[in-house]
Amino acid sequence: MKITDIKTHVLSTPLDEPFAFSQGWVMKRGTMIVELITDEGITGWGEALCHGLQPPEIAETIVQVALKPILLGQDPFDVDVLWERMYNLTRPFGQKGAVLNAIASVDIAIWDCLGRALGKPVHKLLGGAYRTEIQPYATGFYRVEGKPYPADAIEEAKRHMKNGFTAMKLKVGFGVENDIDYILGVREGIGHGPKLMVDANHAYNVGSARRILKAIEPASIHWFEEPISPEDIDGYRELKNLTNIYLAAGENEFSKIGFREWISRRAVDILQPDLCSAGGFTECRKISALAQAWHMTLIPHVWASGIGLAASLQFLATIPPAPLALNPVEPMLEYDQSSHPFRQDLIFGAITMQEGKVQIPTAPGLGVEINRDVIERYKQHR
Ligand code: CA
Repeated sequence: MKITDIKTHVLSTPLDEPFAFSQGWVMKRGTMIVELITDEGITGWGEALCHGLQPPEIAETIVQVALKPILLGQDPFDVDVLWERMYNLTRPFGQKGAVLNAIASVDIAIWDCLGRALGKPVHKLLGGAYRTEIQPYATGFYRVEGKPYPADAIEEAKRHMKNGFTAMKLKVGFGVENDIDYILGVREGIGHGPKLMVDANHAYNVGSARRILKAIEPASIHWFEEPISPEDIDGYRELKNLTNIYLAAGENEFSKIGFREWISRRAVDILQPDLCSAGGFTECRKISALAQAWHMTLIPHVWASGIGLAASLQFLATIPPAPLALNPVEPMLEYDQSSHPFRQDLIFGAITMQEGKVQIPTAPGLGVEINRDVIERYKQHR
């Protein structure tokens, strides 16, 4: 089999109701989709993570200008060799950020292609599934203009609970005192039943983060995500073990080389690589192996459209609990519940939560079909 073409699709659409996180206002949802075509008529799909404030056109340009020339004419079954070649040839201007997002997107498309060629879901190609379904947690709780907080967040939490969620993650990073009152207020408003996590999107330094960590201990917070900048690994080491709240980070780290530092220095309790950002299946399975070797928990970050969501479920199936046990600590699916006009439509609504669980897709490749009408509807032509 040979790769004969790689098409890229930048999808973007303004949000009816813009929302804020600690780094700014999200006005539109966008993503970059890869369509990888082979001489055997098999097409694979991939996606590059597009953060709320990230232009998807950067990853598209990298795929078209830097990666496509490396991949055309190559056998997709040489996926590991192709990954290392892409990383090596982009090293002087890459290693992290949009270059790794772009490598991730084509790597996911290659694995989708392999699965479709063999008639197996990607998790079978990676060694099988440790689980066939997974507990999702709701990501949401963005701030909207003019809403009262924490009252509106308590209402949102109750809506997620009604939909079957038993875990959810609050967006914080809006000021030390504001966050403390908000977190304690939401916990009081919803009771101690649901698992609660908080995510500051690296809005603080060590001192501010420490004050919040100590003050929110009575609210039984499961993990504190990205309290401080991802460059400050020593800062994470200072914060870890200060309280019994797990420390989590990883969505702004890339490749096995990047994660090597976090893992070998035991900087966090929970590692959160994003499949569509850190390097795709080829690299994230290696990050997963490193995490296992250091007995660390890996719970991937997910903030993608349906393609990235399906791919992340394939990856989630393959993550071994560290350690294995009769009732091991299982990973969870980050299930974005914030406004996204094409997240589900792009895959014909194939991924849903039922009775508090999300099933791992078992059809070939990523396990979902792609709605080309949705691509045409949201595609930005340049
Ligand atoms: Ca996050």
